[in-house]
Amino acid sequence: MSLSDTYVTLSREIAASGARLVAVTKTHPVERIRELYDLGHRDFGENRVSELVEKQAALPQDINWHFIGHLQSKKAKTVAPIAHLIHSGDSLKLLRELDKRAAGNSVDVLLQYHIAREESKYGLTPESGRDLLNDVAREPLRNVRILGVMGMATYTDDQDQVAEEFRTLHEIFSDLKDRYFEDDPKFSEISMGMSGDYRLALDQGSTLIRIGSLLLGERQ
Ligand SMILES: *Cc1c(COP(=O)(O)O)cnc(C)c1O
Repeated sequence: MSLSDTYVTLSREIAASGARLVAVTKTHPVERIRELYDLGHRDFGENRVSELVEKQAALPQDINWHFIGHLQSKKAKTVAPIAHLIHSGDSLKLLRELDKRAAGNSVDVLLQYHIAREESKYGLTPESGRDLLNDVAREPLRNVRILGVMGMATYTDDQDQVAEEFRTLHEIFSDLKDRYFEDDPKFSEISMGMSGDYRLALDQGSTLIRIGSLLLGERQ
């Protein structure tokens, strides 16, 4: 299938479930991103700050750039002004730094949770997520808006396992909604699902699907 056919099929399937597609373009050249842009796509995801900065400068300014990789606090000032949504909010330190570097603009962030069985340095647990939000309740963020949650499932063929992890993330979202965001309609996003597991994620209520290889082929 051509890029155009794959794109149309995939984005229709995702839209039919009420979710949105983030095209993950890491390692792919700007010409390739331009092809999707010309098909009308505007939401693109990158996981490295330097690559985001280069591509953002080289491409049209109406692109929504999603930052999906681990973000060090010291790079907050670079990413804050150019990211449409930062999916990887995983510490209070990072959120406070983004808040400081927002320069009067709002910075939209998702809280990243560690839901996979694999070991990972990154991602909140239900407990550390509540600690973070209790701290934010005591001392509110002025410019950072928390719009939902993000997570990555275990890399496995076990569909039940993956579905279970996505279900867990949805439960975390609902719990946070009840405890902290009851009166905030903007807290509405669940970013989960990639090339290998996006259908399971759609079944579990994903609102943002992050797809790279299925759309653009193998990464360089
Ligand atoms: C690379 C990446 C993706 C896309 O992965 P594919 O399997 O190529 O679809 C999604 N989310 C994150 C956080 C990534 O780093």
